[in-house]
Amino acid sequence: SYDELKKCTNNFSDSNEIGSGGYGKVYRGMLTGGQVVAIKRAQQGSMQGGLEFKTEIELLSRVHHKNLVGLVGFCFEQGEQMLVYEFMPNGTLRESLSGRSGIHLDWKRRLRIAIGSARGLAYLHELADPPIIHRDVKSTNILLDENLTAKVADFGLSKLVSDSEKGHVSTQLKGTLGYLDPEYYMTQQLTEKSDVYSFGVVMLELITAKQPIEKGKYIVREVRMAMDKNDEEHYGLGVLIDPAIRNMTNLIGFGRFLELAMQCVEESAADRPTMSEIVKALETILQNDG
Ligand code: ADP
Repeated sequence: SYDELKKCTNNFSDSNEIGSGGYGKVYRGMLTGGQVVAIKRAQQGSMQGGLEFKTEIELLSRVHHKNLVGLVGFCFEQGEQMLVYEFMPNGTLRESLSGRSGIHLDWKRRLRIAIGSARGLAYLHELADPPIIHRDVKSTNILLDENLTAKVADFGLSKLVSDSEKGHVSTQLKGTLGYLDPEYYMTQQLTEKSDVYSFGVVMLELITAKQPIEKGKYIVREVRMAMDKNDEEHYGLGVLIDPAIRNMTNLIGFGRFLELAMQCVEESAADRPTMSEIVKALETILQNDG
């Protein structure tokens, strides 16, 4: 109930606030059984919030996968809307890549994070019934649990896709700048391949640790230009590689990982792999590590 949730976060005190997003503030709390949770509290009086709230509950109650952040419960009382999730103690992938969380992600860990998130998304695309397009895949929506296992979060923008709807023109463009599929941007035709594009951008973040747009430069374009130069060292990527992994002598499957990322961000959706093809390719890369 609302009162219980209020208690478990100490009356939503600022000290328990762990973040805020488009939907509202997020608090850390502990349920009476001892389970640590993240509580998303909607901004007061936002119609948008109301709609997203219902959408998110409907989606999450149907969706269970080890690489998707699980919904523990919800509350819709006393004018408050709240979603209770399992708590991800190691924060977002973006925080780790930017060095803010103090967690060092070595290359092998990055491969595992890529596979985990890809599995979560492949599940949404191919096994959820009906299929779900996430629509806002990005490094701040990939959370890390206590074992640094990746879990995809934030289905507020997700869209259930029935066959009749698939490929239809949507009226409102959704997503985050820098991750946005250019073909979707042009045609507004929503398909799973838009998630694949965004995921490709995340893969480039895993290589470079850069944000998708930094100082007006797009990571996708920067990497493409560097690869065109094609000098010996890592396809000319040299200075673009994250310093935290640049000195590792053996980046297993680096070349193939990079190729896969570039396939994901192909201009034409038809040239991009599906999410489950990505999972298979990543698994092959990691297996060759022995
Ligand atoms: P946005 O709407 O910008 O995607 P969210 O509202 O989903 O952001 O979350 C805001 C922030 O709260 C996240 O960046 C993250 O730091 C934190 N957060 C969200 N969900 C969880 C969770 N389940 N466990 C731990 N931290 C979380």
